[in-house]
Amino acid sequence: MNVLGIESTAHTLGIGIVNEDEILANQKSMFEPEEGGIHPRKASEHHYQSAMEQLNNALAEASLELDDLDAVAFSQGPGIPQCLEIGAVMARSLAEKHDLKLIGVNHCLSHISIGTRTTEASDPTTLYVSGGNSQIIEFRNGRYRIIGETLDIALGNALDKFARELGYPHPGGPEIEKLAGKTDEIIEMSYPIKGMDFSFSGLTTEAERKMGEASDEVLANSFQEHAYAAVVEALERAMAQEDSDEALLTGGVAMNKRLREMVEKMCEQRGAKAYFPPTEYCMDNGAMIAHQGLIELENGRETEISESHKRPKWRPDEVEAEWK
Ligand code: AMP
Ligand code: MG
Repeated sequence: MNVLGIESTAHTLGIGIVNEDEILANQKSMFEPEEGGIHPRKASEHHYQSAMEQLNNALAEASLELDDLDAVAFSQGPGIPQCLEIGAVMARSLAEKHDLKLIGVNHCLSHISIGTRTTEASDPTTLYVSGGNSQIIEFRNGRYRIIGETLDIALGNALDKFARELGYPHPGGPEIEKLAGKTDEIIEMSYPIKGMDFSFSGLTTEAERKMGEASDEVLANSFQEHAYAAVVEALERAMAQEDSDEALLTGGVAMNKRLREMVEKMCEQRGAKAYFPPTEYCMDNGAMIAHQGLIELENGRETEISESHKRPKWRPDEVEAEWK
């Protein structure tokens, strides 16, 4: 079964194509704001304008025609409503016009599924950290449960905001990483953990207030050390509780070398294994949506047009994961 996947939850318009044997295509275009963060209307305009081009690129990469497709999957949520709308409309139109099966999937669960498809992980405790989400997720009793999560903003969003204050363009995570790499010095900041949850809003404000008191490099390094230690501590606790011997790190922030190092070290100390999907599958992408669609369709799930509305606040633990 050839499944086309459409990702449009935030800054990325991604189109991927997969079947049971292969990931056939993974094309994307990212909205890059001229200033500030992700403006919903501008991001959705970007998605609208780049959709056809990325669709054609993906079909060309897969050497397929639209008629060779069997189904279309789309990110139904969670995400920015205006951006979700573009993907949903595109998916419905393709399904109707080309007589394809339609399946709306949960974006967060797609990150986990593509993570297990592209690594050796089978039943991992997942740390999913991105621009819009920060969650620790585990499969228990038929559903993926959220074991810990941010109480305010996402980790990627915090990095982006702090970087913006320092004068860097979006996305800020890589800029903070570059600055932090220039020093080993750390100053004390608040440690943003609350039980199994974490919070980054206060830490971001604190780092911004300390601008001028320490160099940008030291502030960036301190921010990273505190924020990453907090999520890795919660991840370790989740693993200890479940006696889990696999960690999966995914989402855009998973590209950070220091965070990977911390996860790796923690796993090593517990005799567990850390898995990192290839970069193109950590970031938001269409292939993960296509793959999630494929496994759900194989399990008999399909989305009626009348049920294909966007779900901006859709939590992964609302989904019954009968494909597991
Ligand atoms: P996503 O929402 O999954 O596409 O991820 C985007 C987020 O990942 C943005 O907030 C970026 O700042 C962040 N990000 C990308 N690369 C890095 C990196 N090397 N270190 C930290 N954060 C990163
Ligand atoms: Mg994501």
